[in-house]
Amino acid sequence: MRLYEYEGKELFRTLGIPTPRGLVAGTVEEAAAAAETIGYPVIIKAQVQMGGRGKAGLVKKAENEAALRNLAAEIKDRIRADEKLLIEEAVTAVSEGYLGITIDDVKGVPVLVASAQGGMDVEKVAAGNPNAMAKTYIDVTRGLRKYEILDTLKRAGYSDGPLKNLADVTMELYRLFKTYEADTAEINPILFLEDGRLVAGDSKVIVDDYAVFRNEILRKIKDQRKDPESNTKAIYVPLNGNIGIVSLGASNTMMLIDSIKCFGGEPANFADLASGVDHDSMEELATVILKASENKAKVVLINITLAGASLKVVMEGVLDAIKKVQPKMPLVANVRATGAARLQMSTEEAVAALEQAGVICCSRLEDAISMVIRISKE
Ligand code: GDP
Ligand code: MN
Repeated sequence: MRLYEYEGKELFRTLGIPTPRGLVAGTVEEAAAAAETIGYPVIIKAQVQMGGRGKAGLVKKAENEAALRNLAAEIKDRIRADEKLLIEEAVTAVSEGYLGITIDDVKGVPVLVASAQGGMDVEKVAAGNPNAMAKTYIDVTRGLRKYEILDTLKRAGYSDGPLKNLADVTMELYRLFKTYEADTAEINPILFLEDGRLVAGDSKVIVDDYAVFRNEILRKIKDQRKDPESNTKAIYVPLNGNIGIVSLGASNTMMLIDSIKCFGGEPANFADLASGVDHDSMEELATVILKASENKAKVVLINITLAGASLKVVMEGVLDAIKKVQPKMPLVANVRATGAARLQMSTEEAVAALEQAGVICCSRLEDAISMVIRISKE
């Protein structure tokens, strides 16, 4: 489960990691009231589950109420109705740093990553000058020691000034990582203020779905969620692009995502099922993707490739989801079924049923991929 920025910052506050003052707003009216309480200038931040909001124009500064109302309305128009705004005091930063703990998938251990060059272009820093990103693998049986943190921060390019504050924040971030059984706990940017203080400008916290039940605070966060992603048994993965993906099977879907990216498209999301496919789980998977794609994806690709599971069962799940959600964006499908999958329904019947429901069907996957990429760039 990925936490929203404001939820992550609430956890930060409970651990003493400083954050800017902020209030969550559901409407433009609430945003104006929040800004009044906080005092101008404020930063308006869309609470959406994607990175790169700064570059996408979903983080804006407002100097007064008129600007705030305009900008808040503009951002609200671009996000889902249930998604919120975070209104924060705008602080003046002299520099931006990066601090993160995540799991190294290859080594299977947490790794602390720090850089004195944080902010919106941290990926470029990591790609162009890997030495600017200092890493320390964490031995979970021993924990993270203060001297390891200090060593990491020095290698990351920090001078003595911010070191002590930053070391304390790093220790607390590791505490958060352990306490909430996170896969990722990241602060980017850490904003360094003129007076030597630092605040967490952003939060990215992803916790293990299977550990949520163990923690009361996480359970509460999950229960409050109204978004389709959290209310699903399917495993939902948000991505940054604008092509929604309904597809079955992890390896099949990964290949599909790689192909789309290879030809210049950007997937918006995908989902997988934790157990075998039946009508309800397929309907749920398709529903979560169609709903989550609203206001985010320009097109949804439905890619059904089956050898064993019944095409009839899968199709009925997909069609029921389309009927229920009534998506406004175009849907493009590619259906392939071999052997036992076609016993109850032929591929031609599946295509006819999809076309009946307004879905554009392609007979080759390459055609479907080029079509969704074309639509995504219109
Ligand atoms: P992201 O692009 O989705 O990671 O969104 P962020 O929360 O990281 O915001 C993007 C950028 O906005 C940051 O890298 C900062 O440069 C800037 N930013 C956000 N809040 C503040 C603030 O209060 N003061 C200043 N000076 N910059 C901010
Ligand atoms: Mn950020």
